[in-house]
Amino acid sequence: MKKFRLIGDYHTHTLYSRNGHGKGTIRENAERALSLGLKELYITDHGPGHLFFGLKRKMIPIVRKEIDDLNKEFEGRIKIFFGVEANVVDYDGKIDIKEDEIKYFDIMNVGYHTGVRFLNIKSEILFRYINPLSKYSSRLENYIREKNTEALIKIVENYPIRIITHPGEKVNLDIRKLAEACEKQGTLLEINGHHNHISVENLAIAAQTDCRFSVGSDAHFPDAVGSVEGAFRRIEESGIPLTKVENVELLEGA
Ligand SMILES: [Zn+2]
Ligand SMILES: [Zn+2]
Repeated sequence: MKKFRLIGDYHTHTLYSRNGHGKGTIRENAERALSLGLKELYITDHGPGHLFFGLKRKMIPIVRKEIDDLNKEFEGRIKIFFGVEANVVDYDGKIDIKEDEIKYFDIMNVGYHTGVRFLNIKSEILFRYINPLSKYSSRLENYIREKNTEALIKIVENYPIRIITHPGEKVNLDIRKLAEACEKQGTLLEINGHHNHISVENLAIAAQTDCRFSVGSDAHFPDAVGSVEGAFRRIEESGIPLTKVENVELLEGA
């Protein structure tokens, strides 16, 4: 196996992913990242639309301040980005971050998640019922794949989205179409270290476009920050050029 090195971890959770879902503090994630020699760390707790794990809206300015303070303390060693793992909440292309909340974040990632309340019945039905039913009918499968993909394309067109997290996890997607939209908008497709998505097959398809990728651990506790072996394995298996991956480099001499 080739030896890759992660430059920054672009997907980590903290205690702000509520109800014990995330285990560590921002400082603990940062210290772990520092001990691994990472230069960048994204704090991306679940968006407030998640019924159980979502970051509380009232905490957004408070977390902003906490990260600003930590960045002063860690200056020159590591840069911490205040991000969020927003949820798709509407098939017409909406996420669970309000217009006046966007300014607090350095970056916004987005992904499909269960445990989220959609903004309207139509979207609820598509996500909650048509997705699981689609495995029994190829017509339904094609229909919902199209809908799932269109929603994400509208979102990357409507918002400044940095990364689409674990594309293909939870729902079926037309990866080629999504990658084309991401290429246009400069949004990265994530190779998640914790989930098996984006898959090796889809990675190879997406790499036929000029869209770019990111790697993230999706750590839910500090010791998991920087754990991206699964993502590295899929990069190697897919044979995609490393120049397409934003936050990974080849180790010298490897
Ligand atoms: Zn996720
Ligand atoms: Zn996550």
